[in-house]
Amino acid sequence: MRKIEHIGIAVKDLDASNALFEKLFAKSHYKVESVETEGVNTSFFQLGPNKIELLEGTHPDSPISKFIEKKGEGIHHIAYDVSDIRAEMKRLKEEGFVLLNEEPKRGADHKWVCFLHPKSTNGVLIELCQEMD
Ligand code: ZN
Repeated sequence: MRKIEHIGIAVKDLDASNALFEKLFAKSHYKVESVETEGVNTSFFQLGPNKIELLEGTHPDSPISKFIEKKGEGIHHIAYDVSDIRAEMKRLKEEGFVLLNEEPKRGADHKWVCFLHPKSTNGVLIELCQEMD
């Protein structure tokens, strides 16, 4: 893993949270994107080298909606940038981490992604992401 790629924050209302974070950062988000397969609407803020992703569930059964129901709004995942996601998935699996998807999935912001089960990472949901070519 090379660096933190972004931090994901689960929110109930993306429009309201975009307005809130714009006030906080004194800066607008640079994109809004829906990932239908994941049931999320996302927005991204860039702060120097750091990125923040806001995530809103699109329906009550989406993983984000369920997360908020259980834990409330807040930090949802930390994403790490990797150069070769398949190699990293293989390495982590061999180390005993539990992958939530066996094949890289298409994520937001032009990335291939894979999530690690938080039970194997001290309660932190970890996302691996590789820039698509
Ligand atoms: Zn993410």
